[in-house]
Amino acid sequence: MEQTMEQTVALGVDIGGTNTSFGLVTRDGVCLVEKQIPTQADRPAEELFRRLSEEATSLLHASPELRLMGIGVGAPNANYYRGTIENPPNLSWQFVDVRKELHRTFDVPLAVTNDANAAALGEMLFGAAKGMKNFLEVTLGTGLGSGFVANGALIYGANGFAGELGHMLIVPNGRLCGCGRRGCLETYVSATGLCRTMRKMLEQQSTPSELRSFSTETVTAKRIAAAAAHGDALALHAFDVMCHTFAVGLANAVAFSEPEAIILFGGLTNAGALLFEPTKRYLEENLFSIYRNTVRLLPTGLPEGSAAILGSAALIWNEIA
Ligand SMILES: [Zn+2]
Repeated sequence: MEQTMEQTVALGVDIGGTNTSFGLVTRDGVCLVEKQIPTQADRPAEELFRRLSEEATSLLHASPELRLMGIGVGAPNANYYRGTIENPPNLSWQFVDVRKELHRTFDVPLAVTNDANAAALGEMLFGAAKGMKNFLEVTLGTGLGSGFVANGALIYGANGFAGELGHMLIVPNGRLCGCGRRGCLETYVSATGLCRTMRKMLEQQSTPSELRSFSTETVTAKRIAAAAAHGDALALHAFDVMCHTFAVGLANAVAFSEPEAIILFGGLTNAGALLFEPTKRYLEENLFSIYRNTVRLLPTGLPEGSAAILGSAALIWNEIA
């Protein structure tokens, strides 16, 4: 019987500043096929959605046994309630009605949210937070994103923008942030934040460091992590300062939602123990006593390559469940 061969899938779409990746994901979190196209963020958004719709349609035509259940989209500044992307950083669009764009081609349920929220749902359905009802997902890349799951549900907030720990004010009148304010957590805790700390240390301190052989612009988070792994004192100090600031921010976040775990996702987590060990130590030091030794700090359980696609697809699978 042909019908018994049918398999249901969700289309997961991750819109980034440079590339847009998408894939067909089963209910068990297996990404059957995935593809990447350039976002071309300087062109009108309608063009991206037209190309995306064509590509996704041909993927589905190539596998007639697959039945599309819905489309989940993760994007910066995406609004879950309105199904829109609004004034996204690094993209030239001001307002995109994602639902309208994709409904031109697909007559299926559509859900849109920011990339960190999508990662949190992916983690809950397919990753390290399987079975958890209270956890915090923190994505550490160029910036810092976060998604709060409380009582088993993602917190969207009044207007769909809840969970922006990256813009928690952590240092009064501190570093200038891309959002226009000063002292946001992500200006200290992110790949960019780590580089800013490191460059300042290289300028202001005379401690020898292998990073002095690089020009200021080429001191990347990856190079700082490599130097720290070699025991470079200054690089270790930069990590220590970042982890301390991070832990204070997390201690405040714990007071808000009492998660059983904080799950870290994103490029910076490749630093491994350099990131996790001091952050955990400073977190315990800074937690309100009733929360001490109750919050686990875990790495993501999602596979690196398709994590963002799985997260976006999880938007659909979560709603169907
Ligand atoms: Zn900010």
